[in-house]
Amino acid sequence: MFGAQVWLKKDPRRSVIDYLPGRDRRKRFFRQSTARLEHQHGTRWRRWALALIAIATPLTAADFSGASAFKYTQAAVGFGPRPSWSTANRQLQAYIRAQLRMLKCELIEDPFVGKTPKGDVPMTNIIAKFPGKSGHAIAVTGHFDTKLFPGRKFVGANDGGSSTGLLLELARDLSATPRVDDVYIVFFDGEEAVGDWSETDSVYGSRHLAYKWKAGGTLAKLKALINVDMIGDKSLGVLIEENSTYSLRKLVWDTASELGYKAYFLETGEKVDDDHMPFLKLGVPSLDLIDFDYDPWHKDSDTMDKSSPKSLEIVGTVVLESVHRIERQ
Ligand SMILES: [Zn+2]
Repeated sequence: MFGAQVWLKKDPRRSVIDYLPGRDRRKRFFRQSTARLEHQHGTRWRRWALALIAIATPLTAADFSGASAFKYTQAAVGFGPRPSWSTANRQLQAYIRAQLRMLKCELIEDPFVGKTPKGDVPMTNIIAKFPGKSGHAIAVTGHFDTKLFPGRKFVGANDGGSSTGLLLELARDLSATPRVDDVYIVFFDGEEAVGDWSETDSVYGSRHLAYKWKAGGTLAKLKALINVDMIGDKSLGVLIEENSTYSLRKLVWDTASELGYKAYFLETGEKVDDDHMPFLKLGVPSLDLIDFDYDPWHKDSDTMDKSSPKSLEIVGTVVLESVHRIERQ
């Protein structure tokens, strides 16, 4: 079914067959339900242990501000369309660096060349490292580039903007307290395909970094990688990304439930290719948090009025609390 000409909307309210324009098609599966994932994976003891963790965790621990994340998103979107190596993309890089320099973190530049169907494109991942002492590491990632649509004004408020805003706010929160594990906040360049989405024309930044971290030894330290993408939608529904690591997804979904956000983390899903995949393929427990039920996806109507501070706050709060919990594991 990969690469099929048609796909089904997952929203039963719109159970019609949609025909996506070939250029914009992202490889994806539709699944009726992921009930099979909901089988009993845990023993009674594990459930008790999780309950004890929940009791021991103050639910106000996370102080992620949706309003702040929204402002960062607005600033990113304000640069206009941000395909890799565009002026706006590099202006946004400068903005991200400037924000991170105000925080207590190590700023790491990761420039590389993306071999795209349209030739070599210089790209740069930006990484903020919050050092811990455990010898283990956690990464929270997302992309800041927007898809290239020549002649159009595609600003990607949700697709590219929301992940940038959430990560900047998360970095601000993480810098406030000492870390147990090394925590990396990674802003990926080149997530978007230059032409049609394919294995070789997509996720340039994450493919580059996964292999770089494998060679350098960071990959072996990673306990978890959480990628966020398109999480600003006013009508928030984070799907179950079916490639993702079950135990990590369960930890995040349990956290959401305990924080009172169960309604926004769906019990249904599909497979979605995203920036977590290169790490997953190299054995890193990885999770993609994505709301793919978004009508303005890859349309010029993907503007700030479709996103909300509340949605950013829900996902950001859950991710921040999940990082705290993973650090205690
Ligand atoms: Zn996109």
